[in-house]
Amino acid sequence: FLMLDEFSSKAPAGFPDHPHRGFETVTYLLKGAIAHEDFCGNKGVIGPGDLQWMTAGRGIVHCEMPVGEETCHGLQLWVNLSRKEKMIEPSYQDLKDAQIPRKSENGVSVKVIAGEAMGVKSPVYTRTPTTYLDFQLEPGAKYTQPIANEWNAFVFILAGAGTFGVGSARPKKATAHHTLILSKGDSLEFENDTTEKLHFVLIAGQPINEPVVQHGPFVMNSQEEIARTFEDYRGGKNGFENAPKWESDYVKSH
Ligand code: MN
Repeated sequence: FLMLDEFSSKAPAGFPDHPHRGFETVTYLLKGAIAHEDFCGNKGVIGPGDLQWMTAGRGIVHCEMPVGEETCHGLQLWVNLSRKEKMIEPSYQDLKDAQIPRKSENGVSVKVIAGEAMGVKSPVYTRTPTTYLDFQLEPGAKYTQPIANEWNAFVFILAGAGTFGVGSARPKKATAHHTLILSKGDSLEFENDTTEKLHFVLIAGQPINEPVVQHGPFVMNSQEEIARTFEDYRGGKNGFENAPKWESDYVKSH
């Protein structure tokens, strides 16, 4: 995982035309709406609860802008791609809120964005094996989620507070907007020991164990590959063919 951004923005703030290469951007919207368009002609609106899993691969130039009056609140996760997949064709996996599998039991609700929980599986294909779960716990609720051994995992609290690692040597209490980086293990037990609802995401993935060289929106394995990426982007080559002449409808009309 390269980055997790909890964004809260309102038009006209946003992310006009910009490129990506070498990783995936995973946008999960909680509130509001984001208009998206890219230099291949893809265009759409991401609504509350919707997921856009974008594999930038060898190159995407796109525009991500809040629409409407409401403040957009959500998460954007950057998932790295391994050396052999950094230059694959770009692709999208879009799921509307209603298409994301979910389950509830004993005061615990989960939306399975990627991977599996409570016997429910996400249809999202993750090139770097990844689990991404959105949990909501009523006061008093408790649950144990299995996590693949040796995977990197973390929790990010969206609202409320709870205790993580219940029953372990070092249980941690955490509150909204905080991150817990988990140590290696085969499961995480958590509990809402407060009087308010707890809302958090649990994200875990198989480590790639390759060098990470990042320059802004480009993430490659070496400085040479970053230099080549700048050449490709400026020169409209190797996946960035449409970049020099493309402008989003949003930019054209503002
Ligand atoms: Mn972007």
